Amino acid sequence: MFSPFMNLKKQVDVLVIGAGPSGTIAASIMHQAGLSVQIVEKMNFPRFVIGESLLPRCMEALEEAKFLDAVKARGFQQKDGAKFVMNEQVCDFNFSQQYTQGWTWTWQVPRADFDKTLADECVKMGIPLHYNTEVVNIEIFDDHSLTSVKMDDGSVETIRARFIVDGSGYGRVIPRLFGLERPSTQAPRKTLFCHMTDPRRSAAVEPNRITIYVHNPSTWIWVIPFSNGNTSVGYVGSPEFFEDFTGTPEEQFRKLINAQPELKDRFSGSDMLWEPRTLQSWSATTDTFYGKGFVLTGNVTEFLDPVFSSGVTLASVSAQLAANLVIRQLRGETVDWQNEYMKKMQLGVDVFRTYVNGWYDGSLFDIFFAENRNPEIMSQICSVLAGYVWDESNPFVKNHEKNVRTLSRFIASQRTTA
Ligand code: FAD
Repeated sequence: MFSPFMNLKKQVDVLVIGAGPSGTIAASIMHQAGLSVQIVEKMNFPRFVIGESLLPRCMEALEEAKFLDAVKARGFQQKDGAKFVMNEQVCDFNFSQQYTQGWTWTWQVPRADFDKTLADECVKMGIPLHYNTEVVNIEIFDDHSLTSVKMDDGSVETIRARFIVDGSGYGRVIPRLFGLERPSTQAPRKTLFCHMTDPRRSAAVEPNRITIYVHNPSTWIWVIPFSNGNTSVGYVGSPEFFEDFTGTPEEQFRKLINAQPELKDRFSGSDMLWEPRTLQSWSATTDTFYGKGFVLTGNVTEFLDPVFSSGVTLASVSAQLAANLVIRQLRGETVDWQNEYMKKMQLGVDVFRTYVNGWYDGSLFDIFFAENRNPEIMSQICSVLAGYVWDESNPFVKNHEKNVRTLSRFIASQRTTA
C-alpha cells in the first residue's frame, strides 16, 4: 500500500520545518548547491494562510530559488504599486518610480495557490516534502540534531540532520521548544477578513491596485484584488474597535463593509466566499535568530504588522540569506551568524518597524497625505515600501527613524503656520 511517509529520509544534511515561502525558498537554494534536504510540513497543501500582497524585493529570492517561471505561469495579479487613501486624499506609490535599482513589480496572490506552487516546484526538483508531518521535538548535539516528527497516523519518526532551518511561521517551533520567545513591543491588534466576489471592480479607479484605506487613525482596511476576479478585504484595528460590530462573523463583516464609503460602493452587492476569519495578536519575536545547528527564517524570527506587506518579503530574504550561509557552513567555512545573518535581518525588520510605528502614531499620514510631496523623498520611501530596506544609500533606509520623524514634524509645522 502507498504510504506518504515511505520515503521519509532518516538522515539528511538539512531538515527544513514548514513549506511556506521561507521553507521552500531555503530548501530549493540548498538543494541546488548539492545538499540533501528534506521538508516536513504539518498541514496538507493547499492550505490557507494570510499574507497576499508581495513586495518587489521578494522577486530576487524567488529568482534564486528558480521559482519565477512557475509562479509567472499561474497568472497571478501583477502588483505595480500600492495606494493609500484617507478621507478622499490619495497617496499612490508606483514601484517604477522607486529610488533603488531593482524589481519594479511583483504579485498579489491567494497564498494557498502561491505556496502550493512553490512546494510543487520543490517536489519537481526532487526535494522530499512530507505533508501532515509535524515536528514535535528537537534535540541538538555537537554535530547533528535529532528531530521527532509525528505523522497523520500518530506514529513518530526521528530524523537526523546536520542542520535545521526553522521556517514554521506562526508555528514558531524552535523558539517554543527552546524557550526563546520574547513578547513583541507592538500593541495587540486584531483583524477580520474575507475573500469576496468583486463584480463592481471595473468601476473603481485603478481597479487592480492594492488599496489601503485609513478608516480611523488606528484602524485600516486592505483591499487586494486577485486575477481570479475575487478580492481579499480585511479590517485591522485594536481589539476594542471590533466590539462595536456585533453579530455572526458575516453580520460583523457586512457592518464593517458598510462603515467605509468606498467599500460600501464596491462590495455591498458582493458575496463572501467563506465565513470571515479573525486573527489577533500576531506580532512575535525571539531572543536569537540562530543557534548551534539551526537557523530561524521568516515569521519565526520576528513579525511586526501587516500594514506594509513586509511578511513574505522578510520570509523570502531571510530564507535566501540563511540558505547561502548554511551551504557555506556545511562546506566547512566559518560563518559569523551574528553579523552575517541576525544583524542584517534585524536591520530590515527595524526599518519596517519605523514605518509601522509611524503609521500607527500618525506621522506617516503627515508624509503620505501632504499637499506638496517632494518626488525625490517619495521615491526613497517608495523603495522601502518595495522591500529594499537594505539599500543604505537611501536616506530613508540609512537614517530611517530620524528622517521620518523630522519630515513629518516639518510638514506638520508648515500646516500649523499656514
Ligand atoms: P508560513 O507561511 O506561516 O509557513 C509556515 C509553515 O510551517 C506552515 O505551512 C505551517 O503549517 C508549518 N508548520 C508550523 N508548525 C509546524 C510544525 N510543528 N511542523 C511542521 N510544519 C509546521 N505578509 C505579506 O507579505 N503581505 C501581506 O499582505 C500580509 N498580510 C498579512 C495580514 C495579516 C493579518 C497577518 C497576521 C500577516 C500578514 N502577512 C503578510 C504576514 C505573512 O502571513 C507571513 O509573514 C508569511 O506567511 C510568513 O511566511 P513563512 O514562510 O515564514 O511562514
